[in-house]
Amino acid sequence: MLQDQEAHAAEMERTFIAIKPDGVQRGLISEIVSRFERKGYKLVAIKLIVPSKEFAQKHYHDLKERPFFNGLCDFLSSGPVLAMVWEGEGVIKYGRKLIGATDPQKSEPGTIRGDFAVVVGRNIIHGSDGPETAKDEIALWFEPKELVSYTSNAEKWIYGVN
Ligand code: UDP
Ligand code: MG
Repeated sequence: MLQDQEAHAAEMERTFIAIKPDGVQRGLISEIVSRFERKGYKLVAIKLIVPSKEFAQKHYHDLKERPFFNGLCDFLSSGPVLAMVWEGEGVIKYGRKLIGATDPQKSEPGTIRGDFAVVVGRNIIHGSDGPETAKDEIALWFEPKELVSYTSNAEKWIYGVN
Protein backbone atom coordinates (compact mmCIF):
# COMPACT_ATOMS: atom_id res chain seq x y z
CA MET A 1 0.00 0.00 0.00
CA LEU A 2 1.36 3.40 -0.92
CA GLN A 3 1.80 5.84 1.90
CA ASP A 4 0.68 9.41 1.58
CA GLN A 5 3.59 11.84 1.26
CA GLU A 6 2.27 14.06 4.07
CA ALA A 7 1.72 11.13 6.45
CA HIS A 8 5.27 9.99 5.72
CA ALA A 9 6.72 13.46 6.35
CA ALA A 10 4.83 13.70 9.66
CA GLU A 11 6.36 10.42 10.88
CA MET A 12 9.94 11.40 10.07
CA GLU A 13 12.15 11.91 13.09
CA ARG A 14 15.83 12.29 13.94
CA THR A 15 17.95 10.68 16.63
CA PHE A 16 21.45 11.21 17.98
CA ILE A 17 23.73 8.18 17.79
CA ALA A 18 27.36 8.13 18.95
CA ILE A 19 30.02 5.46 18.72
CA LYS A 20 31.94 5.83 21.96
CA PRO A 21 35.77 5.68 22.19
CA ASP A 22 35.75 1.88 22.72
CA GLY A 23 33.74 1.30 19.52
CA VAL A 24 36.00 3.62 17.51
CA GLN A 25 39.21 2.07 18.88
CA ARG A 26 37.92 -1.44 18.19
CA GLY A 27 37.34 -0.66 14.52
CA LEU A 28 33.56 -0.99 14.68
CA ILE A 29 32.61 2.25 12.87
CA SER A 30 31.74 0.70 9.50
CA GLU A 31 29.95 -2.25 11.11
CA ILE A 32 27.72 0.04 13.17
CA VAL A 33 27.07 2.63 10.45
CA SER A 34 26.12 -0.15 8.04
CA ARG A 35 23.46 -1.50 10.41
CA PHE A 36 21.63 1.84 10.40
CA GLU A 37 22.24 2.40 6.71
CA ARG A 38 21.03 -0.99 5.48
CA LYS A 39 17.93 -0.83 7.68
CA GLY A 40 16.89 2.16 5.57
CA TYR A 41 17.69 5.09 7.83
CA LYS A 42 19.29 8.22 6.38
CA LEU A 43 22.49 9.77 7.68
CA VAL A 44 22.04 13.52 8.06
CA ALA A 45 25.16 14.45 10.08
CA ILE A 46 28.44 12.80 11.06
CA LYS A 47 31.72 13.90 12.65
CA LEU A 48 34.61 12.45 14.63
CA ILE A 49 35.44 14.46 17.74
CA VAL A 50 37.14 14.14 21.12
CA PRO A 51 34.67 15.71 23.57
CA SER A 52 36.01 17.54 26.62
CA LYS A 53 35.08 16.22 30.05
CA GLU A 54 32.79 19.25 30.55
CA PHE A 55 31.04 18.39 27.29
CA ALA A 56 30.65 14.75 28.37
CA GLN A 57 29.12 15.97 31.66
CA LYS A 58 26.58 18.02 29.69
CA HIS A 59 25.74 15.06 27.49
CA TYR A 60 25.18 12.77 30.48
CA HIS A 61 23.73 15.46 32.82
CA ASP A 62 20.71 13.26 33.64
CA LEU A 63 23.05 10.74 35.28
CA LYS A 64 25.04 13.14 37.47
CA GLU A 65 23.85 11.56 40.73
CA ARG A 66 24.85 8.05 39.66
CA PRO A 67 28.04 6.51 41.11
CA PHE A 68 29.44 5.75 37.65
CA PHE A 69 28.95 9.34 36.35
CA ASN A 70 32.54 10.53 36.80
CA GLY A 71 34.11 7.43 35.25
CA LEU A 72 31.60 7.53 32.41
CA CYS A 73 32.44 11.15 31.58
CA ASP A 74 36.19 10.44 31.82
CA PHE A 75 35.70 7.58 29.42
CA LEU A 76 33.56 9.47 26.88
CA SER A 77 36.20 12.21 26.74
CA SER A 78 39.15 9.78 26.53
CA GLY A 79 39.29 9.54 22.74
CA PRO A 80 37.48 10.02 19.46
CA VAL A 81 33.69 9.68 19.40
CA LEU A 82 31.79 9.30 16.11
CA ALA A 83 28.75 11.57 16.49
CA MET A 84 25.87 11.07 14.08
CA VAL A 85 22.29 12.04 13.37
CA TRP A 86 20.08 9.47 11.68
CA GLU A 87 16.64 10.17 10.21
CA GLY A 88 13.66 7.95 9.46
CA GLU A 89 10.22 6.81 10.55
CA GLY A 90 10.46 5.58 14.14
CA VAL A 91 14.25 5.91 14.20
CA ILE A 92 14.42 6.99 17.87
CA LYS A 93 12.78 3.87 19.25
CA TYR A 94 14.03 1.46 16.60
CA GLY A 95 17.56 2.85 16.88
CA ARG A 96 17.49 1.77 20.54
CA LYS A 97 16.35 -1.67 19.39
CA LEU A 98 19.28 -1.95 16.98
CA ILE A 99 21.60 -0.92 19.84
CA GLY A 100 20.23 -3.38 22.41
CA ALA A 101 19.92 -3.22 26.21
CA THR A 102 22.27 -0.97 28.21
CA ASP A 103 23.95 -3.97 29.86
CA PRO A 104 25.48 -6.10 27.08
CA GLN A 105 24.93 -9.19 29.24
CA LYS A 106 21.23 -8.55 28.68
CA SER A 107 21.37 -7.37 25.05
CA GLU A 108 19.97 -9.87 22.58
CA PRO A 109 22.33 -11.43 20.03
CA GLY A 110 21.84 -9.57 16.77
CA THR A 111 21.84 -6.19 18.48
CA ILE A 112 24.94 -4.01 18.35
CA ARG A 113 25.74 -4.35 22.05
CA GLY A 114 24.70 -8.00 22.00
CA ASP A 115 27.11 -8.75 19.19
CA PHE A 116 30.08 -6.55 20.11
CA ALA A 117 30.15 -5.70 23.82
CA VAL A 118 30.46 -7.56 27.12
CA VAL A 119 30.28 -5.07 30.00
CA VAL A 120 28.05 -2.05 30.69
CA GLY A 121 30.96 0.37 31.11
CA ARG A 122 32.22 -0.44 27.59
CA ASN A 123 29.01 -0.84 25.61
CA ILE A 124 30.39 0.98 22.52
CA ILE A 125 27.39 3.05 21.46
CA HIS A 126 24.94 5.72 22.61
CA GLY A 127 21.44 6.39 21.27
CA SER A 128 18.85 8.97 22.31
CA ASP A 129 16.12 7.44 24.49
CA GLY A 130 13.16 9.60 23.39
CA PRO A 131 12.03 12.57 21.30
CA GLU A 132 13.02 15.20 23.89
CA THR A 133 16.50 13.79 24.50
CA ALA A 134 16.99 13.37 20.76
CA LYS A 135 16.24 17.04 20.23
CA ASP A 136 18.52 18.16 23.09
CA GLU A 137 21.40 15.84 22.14
CA ILE A 138 21.33 16.81 18.47
CA ALA A 139 21.43 20.49 19.51
CA LEU A 140 24.30 19.82 21.94
CA TRP A 141 26.50 17.94 19.45
CA PHE A 142 25.70 19.69 16.16
CA GLU A 143 25.24 23.18 14.74
CA PRO A 144 22.04 23.45 12.66
CA LYS A 145 24.15 23.97 9.53
CA GLU A 146 25.87 20.61 10.06
CA LEU A 147 22.54 18.80 9.57
CA VAL A 148 22.15 18.00 5.89
CA SER A 149 18.62 17.80 4.53
CA TYR A 150 18.32 15.88 1.28
CA THR A 151 16.05 13.43 -0.45
CA SER A 152 17.50 9.98 -0.82
CA ASN A 153 16.65 8.12 -4.02
CA ALA A 154 16.00 5.04 -1.92
CA GLU A 155 13.22 6.68 0.10
CA LYS A 156 10.41 5.77 -2.31
CA TRP A 157 11.54 2.14 -2.12
CA ILE A 158 11.93 2.12 1.65
CA TYR A 159 8.64 3.85 2.49
CA GLY A 160 6.49 3.17 -0.57
CA VAL A 161 5.84 6.88 -0.93
CA ASN A 162 5.24 8.29 -4.41
N1 UDP B 1 26.55 2.93 32.61
C1 UDP B 1 27.49 2.37 33.44
N2 UDP B 1 27.06 1.65 34.52
C2 UDP B 1 25.75 1.45 34.79
C3 UDP B 1 24.79 2.03 33.95
C4 UDP B 1 25.22 2.77 32.86
O1 UDP B 1 28.69 2.53 33.20
O2 UDP B 1 25.44 0.79 35.78
C5 UDP B 1 26.98 3.70 31.44
C6 UDP B 1 26.78 2.91 30.14
O3 UDP B 1 27.90 3.15 29.31
C7 UDP B 1 25.54 3.53 29.55
C8 UDP B 1 25.68 4.98 30.01
O4 UDP B 1 26.22 4.88 31.32
O5 UDP B 1 25.49 3.37 28.13
C9 UDP B 1 24.39 5.75 30.05
O6 UDP B 1 23.45 5.07 30.86
P1 UDP B 1 21.94 4.92 30.39
O7 UDP B 1 21.19 4.34 31.55
O8 UDP B 1 21.46 6.21 29.82
O9 UDP B 1 22.02 3.77 29.27
P2 UDP B 1 21.88 3.86 27.67
O10 UDP B 1 20.85 4.91 27.36
O11 UDP B 1 23.24 4.19 27.11
O12 UDP B 1 21.44 2.48 27.26
MG1 MG C 1 20.66 6.86 28.03
